Amino acid sequence: MKVIVIEDEQSIIDAINLAFEFRWQGVTLLSAASGKEGIALVRNESPDVVILDINLPDISGFDVLKQVREFSAVPVIILTVRSEDEDMLRGLETGADDYVIKPFNYLNLLARVKAVLRRADKAPLNIKQYSAISSRIKIDFVNQKVFLDEKAIELTPREYRLLVMLVKNKGKLIKYKEILREIWGKSRTDDNGNIRIYIRRLRKKLQDNPPDIILNKRGTGYMFNG
Ligand code: CA
Repeated sequence: MKVIVIEDEQSIIDAINLAFEFRWQGVTLLSAASGKEGIALVRNESPDVVILDINLPDISGFDVLKQVREFSAVPVIILTVRSEDEDMLRGLETGADDYVIKPFNYLNLLARVKAVLRRADKAPLNIKQYSAISSRIKIDFVNQKVFLDEKAIELTPREYRLLVMLVKNKGKLIKYKEILREIWGKSRTDDNGNIRIYIRRLRKKLQDNPPDIILNKRGTGYMFNG
């Protein structure tokens, strides 16, 4: 799981980092110390959740949130200070999923992260349903539609599932046998022909020629490059 913290106070980033390290294995935590940096990081890294401070040195957390919502429905938890109650309301109106008041208890923050992830998993996303996967590709996970340069492309259900599997593991090489198991429900690994055919079709539909979006490591598997 990937978490991005947008916060200019290093001590808070450190503390959040520690909390995850001790209590939540397998979390990659990235941080940005300004709003603009934060937006770029969210765009490039497609995190699972964003923790966003409202008081940032360049632009406000609200502006960050607004801009992030232009391209992503990622769950966002805002950090605000007790004296500014209206921040919390405004944050929720702007599209935050939850808020935590500073100074906060780190276990409480982790519980909030868990809660927004659970909701994001189950409930249809009401802000924007799609996520920008790369500069050219967007996926509407609710309606299972894929867009290339803002135009919908037709994928079969299996092509869609294969693409989503690759996208969810963006930057990671997925082995043939994992793909066969997940997409074809096969436990045997002696037939990679199907995968090749499907990848060829996906690349064609994504205009991925020469391949730059879906990369192949010969004899091993595929990786979504974005
Ligand atoms: Ca701050």
